[in-house]
Amino acid sequence: MTTESALDTALSQLRRAVEQLQLSENEWQTLSTPRRVLEVAVPLRRDNDHVEMYKGFRVQYSTTRGPSKGGVRFHPDIDMDETIALAMLMTWKCALTNLPYGGAKGGIAVDPSTLSLTENERLTRRYTSEILPIIGPERDIPAPDVGTDEKNMAWMMDTYSVNAGFSVPGVVTGKPIVLGGSLGRTSATGDGVAISTREALIARDINPIGATVAIQGFGKVGYWAAVALENMGLRVVAVSDVRGGVTGFSSIHDLWSHFLAEGNINAPGTDRLTNEELLHLDVDVLIPAALADSITEKTAVGIKAKIVVEGANAPTTPEGDAILNDKGILVVPDILANSGGVIVSYFEWVQDKQNYFWNAGEVRENLNAIMMKAFKEVETTSNESRVTWREASHMIGVGRVAEAHRLRGLYP
Ligand code: GLU
Repeated sequence: MTTESALDTALSQLRRAVEQLQLSENEWQTLSTPRRVLEVAVPLRRDNDHVEMYKGFRVQYSTTRGPSKGGVRFHPDIDMDETIALAMLMTWKCALTNLPYGGAKGGIAVDPSTLSLTENERLTRRYTSEILPIIGPERDIPAPDVGTDEKNMAWMMDTYSVNAGFSVPGVVTGKPIVLGGSLGRTSATGDGVAISTREALIARDINPIGATVAIQGFGKVGYWAAVALENMGLRVVAVSDVRGGVTGFSSIHDLWSHFLAEGNINAPGTDRLTNEELLHLDVDVLIPAALADSITEKTAVGIKAKIVVEGANAPTTPEGDAILNDKGILVVPDILANSGGVIVSYFEWVQDKQNYFWNAGEVRENLNAIMMKAFKEVETTSNESRVTWREASHMIGVGRVAEAHRLRGLYP
């Protein structure tokens, strides 16, 4: 699917929420327009002295409820439309979880696996320098996303701080702990996916203990979700990465040890399966935690799971979504299911502002409390308005942003 359709999908979800909330045409205009979009050229001197140009993006979709917030993605397919779509999703995600933020997203159209560590550092620093005028702890706070991690955040924080003349840890979240990162941030998105899975099972009267789960994606989200789910007593029966999936492993811990040693997930005694076979396993919960558009018109038909928990951003196309709904499958949408990452990012920003750092238990308890509140609100709205959980999540998120617009008024 093209990236253009990621924006189409996001806009059609917004259109539906605007209709369901009976908002005005003026409100639709305000809500459907990104506030600030920036495209920059990012030159990189490769280790062999060749200079290459990459496209970099930063979209501040909304700043109505606070500074904009969202990740930085390094992926060859990223473009402006997709960045706008993802920044829009961040806006509803932050509003749904009631964080005092707008929404943003950024990235560079590059495959990070083609970069050496020093090339990655130069590219990250130059990108930071190009977007420097519009970011800052009170303006827009980047974080990791697909293809970036705490290393990139450390370089971004350093580049910003060197230019400011003093340390500014609050300019990015997802930093290493020693630079003002938060305990629990690395596993936060996966932890939130596990909380979502547990709560969705309970909502469907299925005992989470012993419930079976298949996870597409074994990266930052999928891996930590698998660990948290096993700790909660669920059974992760299959996982996959871009090369395909495996089933029949004894535990995630054993599979991870094999991965660290061998660089692949084909541990002895496991059975291989394709990504499509993984999607179609007869499990209680399916967690798409890879990239966008994996549950489509074509793949949705064969899904047997009772619940789909969206670990990735926008993993389901509208056609795929309609099929899941017709089949009676409960879908926990991305803006709820994967909100754990930005929630703990918020905790990190608060800790940086206060120069006072929390223990792991405080992070865990506060994450659980915020997600549980959002969950209950989504469940209640879904029941009262007779809409899907995705529609309910968008109604709450979009409704809060619209209310903030109304109360602030239009200047001048
Ligand atoms: N990239 C993550 C997301 O899509 C986290 C964003 C953040 O922490 O700001 O939610």
